[in-house]
Amino acid sequence: MTETITTLSGAIAAGLSCTCPRCGQGRLFAGFLKLQPRCERCGLDYGFADSGDGPAVFVMFLAGAIVVGAALVTEILFKPPYWVHAALWLPLILLVTLGPLRPMKGLMIALQFHHKAAESRFGQEQQNQERRAEHDQGHREP
Ligand SMILES: [Zn+2]
Repeated sequence: MTETITTLSGAIAAGLSCTCPRCGQGRLFAGFLKLQPRCERCGLDYGFADSGDGPAVFVMFLAGAIVVGAALVTEILFKPPYWVHAALWLPLILLVTLGPLRPMKGLMIALQFHHKAAESRFGQEQQNQERRAEHDQGHREP
């Protein structure tokens, strides 16, 4: 039987290493960003996983700060011609955007699993509260 990850640091490590958020052993991805249908080790269904635009947004903020910062410093210190900027920053953009995208998606999914995060179901919760209230009333009245 595979062990279940219970700590936040374990979840983060599993996410960054692109492995299953429950057992930390099975592979998470089938393609570059396409998920496996389920974990090959513990059988966890990855259908819950919906990281949306989260990974891209965080990577964009990080990559933007790195590339723009580096370009500004280079321009101020060396004032190179524009072709040097293009030769330097285009490969760097590819490196700092595509490189961390996969681990970032793994991290988002692992944190989603660890914190049991999902879209809210307002209607269902309200119905459950009404049922509980009716149930409680039924027990109090003789
Ligand atoms: Zn697993």
